[in-house]
Amino acid sequence: MKRKIMLLIGACIFTVMALATIQGYFIYNTYQLNEREINSAIKKQIARLEDTDEWEKLNDNWAGHSKKYAKQYLKGDVTKQNFIKYLSANKDSLSRAMNTYMKKMAEPEDYNINYSIYLNSIILINNKKTDTLFKGKILVLANDTLKKNLILSSIGRWEVKDNDTELSMVIKSQRYYGFDELQQTIISKMAGLLLFSIVLMAFVVFLYYMSLKNLISQKRIADIKTDFVNNITHEFQTPLATMDIAIKTLQRKDEQMSPEHYKNTLAMIARQNERLQKLFRQVTEASVKPIANKNTIQVTNEEIKDMIDDFKLSKPDVAIAFSCQKEAFSISMDRFHLNTILINLLDNAVKYGADKIETDLKITDKNFILSVKDNGKGIPVQEQTSIFDKFYRVEKGNIHNSKGLGLGLFYIKQLVETYNGNIVVESEEEKGSIFIITIPI
Ligand code: ADP
Repeated sequence: MKRKIMLLIGACIFTVMALATIQGYFIYNTYQLNEREINSAIKKQIARLEDTDEWEKLNDNWAGHSKKYAKQYLKGDVTKQNFIKYLSANKDSLSRAMNTYMKKMAEPEDYNINYSIYLNSIILINNKKTDTLFKGKILVLANDTLKKNLILSSIGRWEVKDNDTELSMVIKSQRYYGFDELQQTIISKMAGLLLFSIVLMAFVVFLYYMSLKNLISQKRIADIKTDFVNNITHEFQTPLATMDIAIKTLQRKDEQMSPEHYKNTLAMIARQNERLQKLFRQVTEASVKPIANKNTIQVTNEEIKDMIDDFKLSKPDVAIAFSCQKEAFSISMDRFHLNTILINLLDNAVKYGADKIETDLKITDKNFILSVKDNGKGIPVQEQTSIFDKFYRVEKGNIHNSKGLGLGLFYIKQLVETYNGNIVVESEEEKGSIFIITIPI
């Protein structure tokens, strides 16, 4: 069964991972699709920009100036370096003009892009002779400060002819656009989908978690019940078998049976009978919720000592200390319930290996705090919350080193809770345990 549950957990983890991978793949694809859509919308936006007379004019403007420069260069009036300087000097005014133009052309659904033109080369053809006025990459204009990621939108090549001379100019340029908010735009476009995917995934994980938790707790309950049936069989078997032998002995009416033997046999029957009754009481007590009797009673120190002394009679080898600062106190509780709690805790301490028990009682303004500390075998940390569950025993399966039905602590907890109190345990294996009960007075 444990193997089956582990397999199931493994299958669930695998399914969740596979689902997450598939979902991740779809989300990635959608992201890419959106990216392509935005880029093509931007390209359309640029095409609209570049398809006006005003844009042509702007372009011709610097091309015209370049032509003038080229003529001067051919005459020998200026150098190539002067041309580069000229481009740099005009960059800002051209950029401003472009900025104004783009703002004017902007439409509501447009993306806030950066647009820039770079010059790559200017080749002069004069009387069939070619000369390179410029070669490299220099910024001609940009509508805004340049963005980090520039995407090439188009490469341009055009020829400018001078009507007066034989001069013609071949200009090569590159146009770029940049859109730094691309990622945020896509993510905000996909926000609904992303949120839905996350919620769906969380829901699937939650459903798996709840189902597995339920399965494990069902299995635990089934195991506990099986243990209980084993325990109860074991617990009832011994007294019943002993009584059977005792009854048969008496039935034989053996003439030679000494009065002492007769007395011992009867005492044995009485003892086993008492044990059976105790077991029966435990089972019935645990099946009905205890009813609190909140009449205020006066309890003296002596009374608690007497309860402990009575218990000591049957456990002469165990040292039980008792301390309490108050001579007497009052508490709204049934005296019988108080006795049951104390004796059950002492009984457990002895049953689970203690030979030294310290019982302490503190009465504060608001609470009655009873602690029972023992030097027994202790309780593993992982079991410390379960020991208060119905039928729960640390000794599971068919290991019966100590007798019990797993009802003692459950009943104590129920009792304590009917008086609005609580019970906690602190314990270290092989060192001992301390049970602390707090009940409001
Ligand atoms: P039972 O004693 O009948 O098994 P309880 O409900 O009284 O049932 O106790 C539940 C489990 O808690 C026990 O199986 C035992 O292992 C553990 N336990 C209880 N009291 C002590 C103690 N004082 N020291 C060590 N283990 C304890």
